[in-house]
Amino acid sequence: MSLSRGRPYLAIPGPSVMPDRVLAAMHRAAPNIYAGPLHEMTAEIRAGLKRVACTAAHVAIYIANGHGAWEAANANMFSAGDGALVALTGQFGIGWANSAERMGVTVTRLDFGRQAPADPARIAEALSADRAHRIRAVLVSHVDTASSVRNDIAAIRAAIDATGHPALLAVDAIASLGCDPLRMDDWGIDVLVAASQKGLMTPPGLGFVWFSERAREAGRGARLKTPYWDWEPRGFAQEYWQNFCGTAPTHHLFGLAEALKMLLDEEGLEAAWARHARLAEAVWAAFDAWGQGGDIVLNIADRAFRGHAVTAARIGGGGAGRLRSWCETEAGVTLGIGLGMAAPGETSYADFLRVAHMGHVNAHMTLGVLAVMEAGMRALGIDRGAGALDAAAAVCAR
Ligand SMILES: *Cc1c(COP(=O)(O)O)cnc(C)c1O
Repeated sequence: MSLSRGRPYLAIPGPSVMPDRVLAAMHRAAPNIYAGPLHEMTAEIRAGLKRVACTAAHVAIYIANGHGAWEAANANMFSAGDGALVALTGQFGIGWANSAERMGVTVTRLDFGRQAPADPARIAEALSADRAHRIRAVLVSHVDTASSVRNDIAAIRAAIDATGHPALLAVDAIASLGCDPLRMDDWGIDVLVAASQKGLMTPPGLGFVWFSERAREAGRGARLKTPYWDWEPRGFAQEYWQNFCGTAPTHHLFGLAEALKMLLDEEGLEAAWARHARLAEAVWAAFDAWGQGGDIVLNIADRAFRGHAVTAARIGGGGAGRLRSWCETEAGVTLGIGLGMAAPGETSYADFLRVAHMGHVNAHMTLGVLAVMEAGMRALGIDRGAGALDAAAAVCAR
């Protein structure tokens, strides 16, 4: 007998849960790509993507995952030998930095560890030291999905501006778009990167790069551009095929159109942000209670710097790894691994896990995950404080 039969639940931070409506919208015959409804739908998707990022900037859509979207952004910002300043606050800044470096960009890394946000003052200091203005862009994750830290993008912009340095601000919002408040234009973001499979509730396969007019101008001479990654024809397509530099990702577009309708027209972006904030708080409340009686602690101590779509936590003594496997095999719930969270020299992530509450997620799903975790800790004899589910329920009941 196993209690895992039933609909499996994936609580990892991407791919996230896909609404049945999104899947159903994709289940259809191949459409005409030369004329007709697909063209109108693409125009609506482009408008929706601007709404979800709170921007009037341009947007390019790529057939790519997040790693592809990083390269797209790099290709349009840099020539070989240009500088990039990258803030590391977990795992994903490392990935973006490596990608830029492999493309020939001279990367300066500022490491803020795995438990704290980027310090705007240190970014400003590094820019001030760059008197020759070799650094063309500052790259930073809004939410680093590995550490679950949320960086203060507006404060980073203000710090950059205070130095008078002309570097662009490029932000990875792959984990946060549609989940955490994010206002591209108000925050002065020049280049924003995201993908379809997290807050946008659509299968992996679409990457997005929004770019301000300032970034467009600054990037005109970027020599890493190739025909496929160049954002200009995609952002300003004269002919339909230019939107995707070839065949459109037809079925992903049907799915994304449905997801944007659900997010923007039915729920509303601000309501979705508030839902994520509340569910995150329920998860934090449970961990706080568990932590009262065991070696269990949230990775980011200051709640002001916690992302709302994913929570990284430590359950010591290998508890996190054992709990993950119990939840999957005994209860049908898959939790996220502790990506990049092993201490230097350690090879195991056994003490870390992540709980996603990202995208198409409601109270019953989140409370269900927490209840399954409680059951798993009981089954495994993991020491923990009492009252976690009460505390989470109280947050939802508020
Ligand atoms: C998921 C994620 C990525 C990587 O996206 P892939 O689609 O796996 O390439 C990059 N950055 C952040 C912040 C993410 O959450």
